[in-house]
Amino acid sequence: MVEFPFNNVTASVLLESLNLDSKYLPYYVAVTLLVIALSAAYFYCYNLSLKPKGCLDPENFREFKLVKKTKQSHNSARFRFALPTPTSALGLPVGKHIKCRGRDSQGEEVIRPYTPITLDSDVGYFDLVVKMYPKGRMSHHFREMKEGDYLPVKGPKGRFSYKPGQAKAFGMLAGGSGITPMFQITRAILENPKDTTKLSLIYANVTVDDILLKEEIDEFANKLPERFKVYYVLNQPPEPWSGGVGFISKEMIQAYCPAPAPDIQILRCGPPAMNRAMATHLDALGYTHDMQFEF
Ligand SMILES: Cc1cc2nc3c(=O)[nH]c(=O)nc-3n(C[C@H](O)[C@H](O)[C@H](O)COP(=O)(O)OP(=O)(O)OC[C@H]3O[C@@H](n4cnc5c(N)ncnc54)[C@H](O)[C@@H]3O)c2cc1C
Repeated sequence: MVEFPFNNVTASVLLESLNLDSKYLPYYVAVTLLVIALSAAYFYCYNLSLKPKGCLDPENFREFKLVKKTKQSHNSARFRFALPTPTSALGLPVGKHIKCRGRDSQGEEVIRPYTPITLDSDVGYFDLVVKMYPKGRMSHHFREMKEGDYLPVKGPKGRFSYKPGQAKAFGMLAGGSGITPMFQITRAILENPKDTTKLSLIYANVTVDDILLKEEIDEFANKLPERFKVYYVLNQPPEPWSGGVGFISKEMIQAYCPAPAPDIQILRCGPPAMNRAMATHLDALGYTHDMQFEF
């Protein structure tokens, strides 16, 4: 005999009002429970697993409002864009970037990749740090952008995606605005107490004023010296200067990056000439193709 959490009088009244036969009551209950279980499973799969998370669409541009533009240096600024709600996350896996669309000084459409320096744990907004070149086409668009303007963005894009434990250590070779993917990965690793990956960053610029995110990078190096090391390299160093001088050399990579091994990776992001020079150095030092990644 099946026991129900309501008495038989209530059940009979309910079934009569629905014009159903009370002798099939156990079947009605079973079907109802099955419908509830299927609805719960559908809700779980659709909302938690299958439905794309976040605010990005890889195929179509979506517009985000610029809510704050803060000058960082003579030619760079930090742009904060609002997400649809204060609790929305952008939905960008660590290591991926977005494509931004704008207009150059001739009014022509231009699309370029950018890496937010915020993570999905930063809800309600995302930040870009952009270096603006005098003749750069997208640079013109960012220079002209004012708070309240909208930026069309699509993503996530990119071949690199970071998962904790994928490497024991990363060496990172960054030039100028090439710091942004490195910074995003560094934040994700160092802000995760369960992640033990070690990081060594060599960051090249022309002058000390060109170094982006220096305060934040130095804070990581001071707080977690066993896990994160930074070595700055400048073409035109100030006096006195304790970092490297000139371009990133083979000797600097040897001194500051993890040695070639199957469980390490060297990431690079900079201007094309720098990327080519770094690839030549890494090949010569014995880093295999699998140990290198270029953003
Ligand atoms: C994966 C990825 C992520 C990126 N993320 C960022 C980011 O977060 N922030 C950011 O500022 N940039 C980032 N960049 C670079 C960005 O995509 C553009 O290339 C850059 O903003 C210049 O675009 P532009 O249209 O203004 O210049 P373009 O019109 O393409 O170039 C015009 C001139 O600008 C100068 N120039 C352009 N790029 C460089 C450079 N890298 N180094 C030196 N001179 C240059 C050259 O003189 C060039 O001839 C990223 C690039 C990649 C591949």
